[in-house]
Amino acid sequence: VTRFEGVPMAPPDPILGVSETFKADTNDLKLNLGVGAYRTEELQPYVLNVVKKAEKLMLEKGENKEVATLQSLSGTGSLRLAAAFIQRYFPEAKVLISSPTWGNHKNIFNDARVPWSEYRYYDPKTVGLDFEGMIADIEAAPEGSFVLLHGCAHNPTGIDPTPEQWEKIADVIQEKKHMPFFDVAYQGFASGSLDEDAFSVRLFVKRGLEVFVAQSYSKNLGLYAERIGAINVVCSAPEVADRVKSQLKRLARPMYSNPPIHGARIVANVVGDPTMFGEWKQEMEEMAGRIKNVRQKLYDSLSAKDKSGKDWSFILRQIGMFSYTGLNKTQSDNMTDKWHVYMTKDGRISLAGLSLAKCDYLADAIIDSFH
Ligand code: PMP
Repeated sequence: VTRFEGVPMAPPDPILGVSETFKADTNDLKLNLGVGAYRTEELQPYVLNVVKKAEKLMLEKGENKEVATLQSLSGTGSLRLAAAFIQRYFPEAKVLISSPTWGNHKNIFNDARVPWSEYRYYDPKTVGLDFEGMIADIEAAPEGSFVLLHGCAHNPTGIDPTPEQWEKIADVIQEKKHMPFFDVAYQGFASGSLDEDAFSVRLFVKRGLEVFVAQSYSKNLGLYAERIGAINVVCSAPEVADRVKSQLKRLARPMYSNPPIHGARIVANVVGDPTMFGEWKQEMEEMAGRIKNVRQKLYDSLSAKDKSGKDWSFILRQIGMFSYTGLNKTQSDNMTDKWHVYMTKDGRISLAGLSLAKCDYLADAIIDSFH
């Protein structure tokens, strides 16, 4: 006898499910382009040298594990905590999210009971940014809305506004008294530079605006399994920040009390030590550089092999880990069923899961699936 008759089977997660079916595939040619986690040219997970170094130092110092500071459970937990905060203190506000966006954004705000709607972002005609649409929708939203922005390396499209466009976005947000809410999950992966990739967030902060920033170290420090991130709220005065922080802590307390310390210590050691910080920037550049190389090679392979005259240059204009190929669901199914290339059904491929050696094969698969 079970009391759980009313609990139906949950549908598979569109992203995590990709890895599960990938594992079950026994074909040697198989390629996992589903998950946005960094892989080496050998397509193996990568532990950053600077992380190993920080961990070694921590062992040597014999640090205890009693202290905990306010940090969140990686990007997802940071977003979820901010959503709970919005639900409690801005019950009238709605959140604007880009169309499309990372699939979990909708789940997060739904579960937190925060109403959301979409602003235009991706233009399929140009495989680029629908900037006019974006501005018009942010402008049309009720004053005081929260506008969720991807700090850099937009997921899933790989399309970011230009610096000039960011200025205009900030203008509208300021005029409409909206609250900018940055999701920063890929800092360093757009340009290779942690500083350059902070441009958008810093622009808003420089204008003196109050800003939410959900920060993840899953990708850029390869700490996915440590669940380390932070929810930062830039406030207009220290006294305001104290109040906001006290409430964020209060929200976290009954959810999970305190976050784990190990990942936080690694990050603190890396960013707190000028030498290690420099080493991280170097490794970040190398990781981003590898992805840029496969991006270029994939473009070259597609252009050389495709006789249809299709312009593939959108691949080079996209940045970060992902490329939004424009493949529809049926075509994406063909990628998987015929070519053993695993990817999300929105046509997104993670170039972090691609090697130079596999670019020709992938180009064949894409061309076959398109035509
Ligand atoms: N935001 C975006 C846009 C993401 O793509 C991801 C991870 N896929 C996250 C947030 C959260 O990542 P994590 O919780 O692993 O830090």
